[in-house]
Amino acid sequence: MKNFETLAVRTQSDRSQFNEHSTPLHLTSSFVFDDAEQMRAMFSDEVEGNIYSRFSNPNTTELIQKICALEGAEAGWATATGMAAVFTTFGALLKQGDHVLACRSIFGSSHTILTKILPKWGITFTYVDINDTENWSYAVQENTKLVFIETPTNPGVDIIDLEWLGNFAKQHKLLYIVDNCFATPYLQQPIKFGADLVIHSATKYLDGQGRVLGGLIAGKQSLIDEIQGFARHSGPAMSPFNAWIISKSIETLAVRMDRHSENALKLAEWLEKHPQVEMAKHPFLASHPKYDVAKKQMKAGGGIVTFIVKGGVEKGRDFLNKLQMISLTANLGDTRTIATHPASTTHSKLSEEERQEVGILPGLIRVSVGLEHIDDIIKDVEIGLS
Ligand SMILES: *Cc1c(COP(=O)(O)O)cnc(C)c1O
Repeated sequence: MKNFETLAVRTQSDRSQFNEHSTPLHLTSSFVFDDAEQMRAMFSDEVEGNIYSRFSNPNTTELIQKICALEGAEAGWATATGMAAVFTTFGALLKQGDHVLACRSIFGSSHTILTKILPKWGITFTYVDINDTENWSYAVQENTKLVFIETPTNPGVDIIDLEWLGNFAKQHKLLYIVDNCFATPYLQQPIKFGADLVIHSATKYLDGQGRVLGGLIAGKQSLIDEIQGFARHSGPAMSPFNAWIISKSIETLAVRMDRHSENALKLAEWLEKHPQVEMAKHPFLASHPKYDVAKKQMKAGGGIVTFIVKGGVEKGRDFLNKLQMISLTANLGDTRTIATHPASTTHSKLSEEERQEVGILPGLIRVSVGLEHIDDIIKDVEIGLS
């Protein structure tokens, strides 16, 4: 087995007749056949090959092979966005009457799929608290089909023990699905802990430069077969252009994640000592309530830091307004450092009580720490807090 960095760089589609060193872009919606017999055989799945880019394309195939190598997965699928990956997974694997167990602190649009979209087809859910795993068994029903979680969570950077969850899923015979967007396979490989499927928003760290949208699903062959059957016909395919960009971005994933994690930890340590800051949180900060679990299952703590400014919503908004370099934008996992104030933006539609339940306090700031020099990042945060 080759090492992570080598797989990230060297997993590449076969060279064409032109002997190019770097994979070319295959912008084509369909592929030609040698003759009628080959066409018939490919359509009837007797031989493998590219037919139409809604089904497969050399650029998406390379990216899928790469994410499978990095996550330790048997098979995978690529989608247009991270949300398409979440929805395609649910759409393919759930049927009327099924029930989903999910941690409450999941991505906003995943929350909307569970609460607004799936109920239209008679699929129900129960939320469980990521920090209260003792009570999870009570939430399992006879019709519970799968458990869906994120770790670290957004924006609270809470951590769940992936190994514990692997045993829990096995005991209750649930499909175990992890949205691994925040950690990436470089920092954490949920399949090692028994996960059946891993989902990514490739828009975040996998591209890592804030350019394109993309989603990936990787895991058990039998589940990917079902997902493929659903996706080929419902059409959430990733564009070959985006696959080409993301595959090349992953060549530098390890180097980038090391620096994102190092910068984030330094910022968190600095914040923890600042008099205007009530609390700072990062998985590899010794004060994190699940520090030991994070150390066990993650290679480094990742690029997201949250903290609470003293003075509530007003001070939170004030912090954002004072920043000079750090961007105010909805993305994360970019080379550029980004700050958001969830209580007045992404989570403003939730009630105060709902925000409390997922740990979004009025003064909570989320920083996606980028790859600028750490001294310049800290300087800007200092201006924000002044
Ligand atoms: C951004 C994000 C998604 C959605 O991905 P898109 O590519 O924006 O559709 C899903 N899960 C998590 C954890 C995310 O951060």
